[in-house]
Formats: sequence, C-alpha cells, structure tokens
Amino acid sequence: MGKLTGKTALVTGASRGIGRSIALRLAEDGALVAVNYASNDTAAKEVVEQIAAAGGRAFTVRAELGVPGGVAALWAGFDEGLAAAGERPGLDILVNNAGVTVPEHIQTTEEADFDRLVAVNVKAPFFTVKEGLDRLRDGGRIVNISSGVTRISYPELIAYATTKGALDTFTLALAKELGPRGITVNAVAPGIVDTDVNASWLRGNEEARAGAASLSVLNRVGQPEDIADVVTFLASDDGRWVTGQVVDATGGSAL
Ligand code: NAP
Repeated sequence: MGKLTGKTALVTGASRGIGRSIALRLAEDGALVAVNYASNDTAAKEVVEQIAAAGGRAFTVRAELGVPGGVAALWAGFDEGLAAAGERPGLDILVNNAGVTVPEHIQTTEEADFDRLVAVNVKAPFFTVKEGLDRLRDGGRIVNISSGVTRISYPELIAYATTKGALDTFTLALAKELGPRGITVNAVAPGIVDTDVNASWLRGNEEARAGAASLSVLNRVGQPEDIADVVTFLASDDGRWVTGQVVDATGGSAL
C-alpha cells in the first residue's frame, strides 16, 4: 500500500519534463494518474507504459489547454479514461503543471505572446479548477506549478513572471474558498530545472550549466524529480496542514 493508494490524480502537461516526473512519482505512491498532454502522443504513452511497467496505473488525456474548448476536452477525456479504467467518478489530486514561457523583456513582448501566456498559465488553471470543482472530492489537493521568478526578479521573462504571480494569487484566494471542504491549495515554485524548455541553452553547454547551478546555494541545476517530491508531499496526507502557500523549490536560489 502506497501513501496515495485509492487516490485519483490529474496532472496537466505530464508527457514531458516536470509534469512527467510528478505523474511517475504520484503513481509510485499508488495513485491512479491521468496524464494530460497537448500533442506528443508518443511521450504521453511512454509515461503511461513506464507507470504500468512499475506496477502502477495511469491513462492519457489529450487536450491542449489555453485554447477554446481545451478545459472541456480535458475533463471529458478525464471522465472517459476513468470510466474505461473501471473507476468511480471523481478526483483527489489536481496538479496544474502545464505552462509556457516567452523569454522577452517588456520592450519586445508581443501582445499575442502575452495573451497566450495568460491563456495557458492563468486562464487554463483557473477554469480547470472551476469545471473540476464538482469532481474534486472533499479532502482533496490542488497544486499549482508556479516559478521562482515570482520572488526573484527576471525582467527577461517579465510576461511569464506576471502570469506566475497571478497563479500565486489564485492559489491564495482558492485556499480560503476550498478550506471548508478540507481541500488544500498550494503552489510550488521551481527554479531552473533541466527540462526540454531549457534544453537549447542548458544541455551540452558546461559554462551555461555551471552558471545556472551557481544560482542555487546547493550549486546544481534542479531536476524534475526535485519538484515532483515536493508536489507529492503536498498531495499526500503528510501535507494536510499546509495550504495557501507558495513552496519555494529553487534549491535556495538568490537567498
Ligand atoms: P516542458 O518540459 O516544456 O513540458 C511541457 C509539458 O506540458 C509537455 O507534457 C507538454 O505536452 C505540456 N504542454 C505544453 N503546453 C500545453 C498546453 N497548452 N496544454 C496541455 N499541455 C501542454 O515544461 P517544464 O519545464 O516541465 O515546465 C512545467 C511547469 O513548470 C510549467 O508550468 C513551467 O512554467 C514551470 N516551471 C518550469 C521551470 C523550468 O526551469 N523548467 C522553472 C520554473 C517553473 P506535449 O508533450 O504534448 O507538448
């Protein structure tokens, strides 16, 4: 019996990167995991296969968030996957992880990019929760994946940082709204993590990697598992007395 045996989880953006690690870790602890993704069928299938190979249970939910109909497709796919797995309807753990980045200063940020950032990073989590409220069981968990850029100033990511600040504020208000139902709501703020989004400048460039590592007092670049472990703590009963918080998981960056 794992800590999450009998629980059902949905992780958005779980075919790659941090979301993938969160899905693997929640499944390792016994949760049935819905693996959402936008378009990479192969990567999503691999996550489900890896979970199954380790004795866990998961299914894929293809739905692009941040576009009209995205949230509706997410919940329709979730309900369908659950029924196909022979499970009762409902959800215990929602992880709003899917997010996009636009690395621009204010002077060069295009309005269309700003709108897309808001759509994926803020509007999608907001309405995913709204449309999921009836499915989320009392005593459940919501974890939003924020970013260290809400604490550490990064003008070169200003629009992205703005959306993550909004996500933190959403977390705070929602925690109070859902407290009476025993549902905790927290955000986890990673620093630089070795995922595809950073591959172009981080992988194969030792100087860049050393520079990124030096931002953390632990002097290394974050790995997706570093974030997944924090999320899993908050998602489990161990995290029951923590709500409305932004948990810094930057390896002590810019202390
Ligand atoms: P990533 O490596 O780019 O992974 C992207 C994942 O999200 C994939 O599974 C992708 O699906 C999915 N996805 C992308 N856009 C989507 C959409 N519109 N709808 C549904 N799924 C979508 O990302 P990551 O680096 O793991 O980042 C995950 C989260 O952590 C994001 O919220 C990000 O802002 C946050 N974060 C990351 C870092 C970092 O350094 N990496 C630091 C701080 C915070 P497909 O495979 O189908 O494309």
